Amino acid sequence: MREKRSPSQLETLWKEKDMASGEIVDAMVVIKRTNGCCWVKSGGCTMCGYREASLAKVTEEDLTKQLEQALSRYKGEPFVKIYTSGSFLDDNEVTPAVRDMYFDAFKDCKRILFESRPEFITEDAVASLPSNVTIALGLESSNPEVLRTSVHKGFTPEDIERAGTLVKDHGLGIRTYLLLKPPFMTESMAIADAVSSARFADPFSDEISINPLNVQRATYVERLWKRGEFRSPWIWSLIDVFRQLSGTVNSRLMSSPSGGGAMRGVHNCGDCDRKALDAIEKFSFTQDLSDLDVGCQCQDKWRAYMRSEDMLGSPADLERDFTNELVLRM
Ligand code: SF4
Ligand SMILES: [Zn+2]
Repeated sequence: MREKRSPSQLETLWKEKDMASGEIVDAMVVIKRTNGCCWVKSGGCTMCGYREASLAKVTEEDLTKQLEQALSRYKGEPFVKIYTSGSFLDDNEVTPAVRDMYFDAFKDCKRILFESRPEFITEDAVASLPSNVTIALGLESSNPEVLRTSVHKGFTPEDIERAGTLVKDHGLGIRTYLLLKPPFMTESMAIADAVSSARFADPFSDEISINPLNVQRATYVERLWKRGEFRSPWIWSLIDVFRQLSGTVNSRLMSSPSGGGAMRGVHNCGDCDRKALDAIEKFSFTQDLSDLDVGCQCQDKWRAYMRSEDMLGSPADLERDFTNELVLRM
């Protein structure tokens, strides 16, 4: 059983590299505990396990203590990312007073990034934000049917477009998240969906982050995965998306896959996963396609896998349903 977690403690905090003002900089990532995403009450998104990071009653005092913990570990990083497993602009998760404390504490940073669903991105909310803010928008897909039935996102692509355009018009930044391989999609459908979604998001985005689906616990996708009805995407598919988009969009393309190389996350054959993921990390900073020049024997298997899926018209995990020999012969 999971240990009882204190509402006044941060979920976690770490340091990493990211980009700000065109340079690679140190970033501090803060994962807060809050009352959780409002959309979870309506069932939540099919792939989202963030409810695990949320608690029932997190008070303003708790949120202030979490900020104090973050500040005790802050070493002047120019980029601070604040994740709430929901929407930073939702007053039920983070009160306006606490939001202002964060903005004041990190006012000298080059960038502050947080996530929000579009319904909280109003004219008034955006007008009150400091100029160093970037809002991360979880568009996932620009296909309304995919959003409605596969992701169960609870908003439309146009809602995100409106929010993104409003934020841009106020001179703030937008990082758009796309989901590579929502459930019920074959690998080749997923690649095409990510490419067309990035083209949709490009006009109102500064950065497009492609997030390959990582099977999280206690989610609808996990049920499909356990039954062999879902395979997390191949790393080759993510590289293919970047190859198709590179030079055709203005936004910086990036990906920091969680669970990369594991069965639940984006993965290849196992032998080449680290090399391919390192290439993606490098490309995310340089945007240089030559950084994606990695290869492995399993690329043939990936192509055969996609052909087999297309012939069968099924997104089921063929590696588990058939022998590898059969997949390779098809
Ligand atoms: S993915 Fe985002 S919007 Fe969907 S349930 Fe999770 S936190 Fe909420
Ligand atoms: Zn391989």
